[in-house]
Amino acid sequence: MFKIISYPAEFYDDLRLEVAPFDRYLDNEFIVERKGEENDEEYTNKITIKEGTREKEYSFVEAKHSVEDELLKQRYKKRAAKRAVYEALSEYTGVKLPWGSLTGIRPTHLAYEYLNHGGDKHRLAEYLEESFGVSPKRARLIYDIIEAQRKYLNGNSSSVNFYIHIPFCPSRCSYCSFTSLDYQKANKMVEPYIEVLLEEIYESCEIIEKNGYKVDSVYIGGGTPTSLDPELLRKVLDAVPFRDVEYTLEAGRPDTITEEKLEICRQFGVTRISVNPQTLDENVLSLIGRHHAACDFFNAFAMAKKAGFIINTDLIAGLPSQSMQIFQNDVETVAKLGADNITVHTLSIKNGSAMKNSAELPRNDETEAMMNFAIDSLTEKGYIPYYLYRQKNMLGNLENIGFTLDGCQCRNNITTMEETLSVIACGAGAIGKRIFAGGRIERLSNLHDVKLYIEQGKERFFKKRIFYSNQFTI
Ligand code: SF4
Repeated sequence: MFKIISYPAEFYDDLRLEVAPFDRYLDNEFIVERKGEENDEEYTNKITIKEGTREKEYSFVEAKHSVEDELLKQRYKKRAAKRAVYEALSEYTGVKLPWGSLTGIRPTHLAYEYLNHGGDKHRLAEYLEESFGVSPKRARLIYDIIEAQRKYLNGNSSSVNFYIHIPFCPSRCSYCSFTSLDYQKANKMVEPYIEVLLEEIYESCEIIEKNGYKVDSVYIGGGTPTSLDPELLRKVLDAVPFRDVEYTLEAGRPDTITEEKLEICRQFGVTRISVNPQTLDENVLSLIGRHHAACDFFNAFAMAKKAGFIINTDLIAGLPSQSMQIFQNDVETVAKLGADNITVHTLSIKNGSAMKNSAELPRNDETEAMMNFAIDSLTEKGYIPYYLYRQKNMLGNLENIGFTLDGCQCRNNITTMEETLSVIACGAGAIGKRIFAGGRIERLSNLHDVKLYIEQGKERFFKKRIFYSNQFTI
């Protein structure tokens, strides 16, 4: 447990995120006090760490950037405060985090900010190391990802990604933070949900046509879309009129995939599919509440391969009772099977979750070693890291990385992560986005709760019409 005190009272939420990963390295409650001062040339941040009777002070001075824009000035001031808190805690605990003082979801955005302001791409890694304390391995990773993404980012202002959310799964994984319900328990809601969803899809197609949008890709996610019965799955796919575009369906749970459902997906133009084991260790699978066995994954993968889909597989590092050996086997096995994409996640645990203090979780340094193994081993096998994002409360403050075989990149993942294309989203908890010229982003969230979405979802369609109309500005 820790407490933050900041004078002046600012950046509280950001500093909290900065301190949170160090909580695991201190046995006692501790206080981090920050005193920020500035003059025309410099920011000074004095940090005091108090733990029981122990107290340690640090002082960091950083030169100011010469910028006029008030928002930018504030951003640099915040970065200096965060870096000071990070460096103080790092020295105090002797722990260096892979992303240094970076706490944001998309570290690539900082790299693009640097390049768009005239930064030299060959100095990018150095810039990330010097300015944020990012480790050389992660700085290099960002460089490689930026290189891999470039040719996929030339969107056109009328292009949109089309997203559909299916919030049902065959069982609830213990670490899940998505809008998703247990299919059996929520069985009565499935058909009414699909009814409203279909109306929202029709409504969205009209919006697309009326406003002259062009659909760049379709993504059906969840939840587990293949937890739907074949007839309901067919109804959803039949409502989507976009063909000959990149079309992904996140089948996810291997125990929901059948030849019949894959055939329906093919008929309606799906080109990419996810088959996610998360791990291939039976004991770990049962500990995380996934009621399928490793053999279900192998069967589903073989069916999807035979049907000719581009296949993504998700793995997680840092699961309870997952040793390095188990993780290595997970990575080696899916690569050997020839998965076209492999997305390696770090376990993220919600605050308050029973799992948070579980003795069965690997240590942060063990989880970091797993992610390092994935980076080294997959790149050696010819996989290219091509997108990356972070979530709150990830073990070791690490990351999720998408790897691909060359030519199998998922454009939807890149444009969604880098926020370069607007998104028209349907279903409970789905978030639509409009990206305006100059990079301004507006969001429109659907009702999160599935029951409320069924009851009131239609009443909110008018908001969607206004939001995506070409007259909409703020
Ligand atoms: S399969 Fe995904 S969405 Fe479904 S419960 Fe597990 S983590 Fe959540």
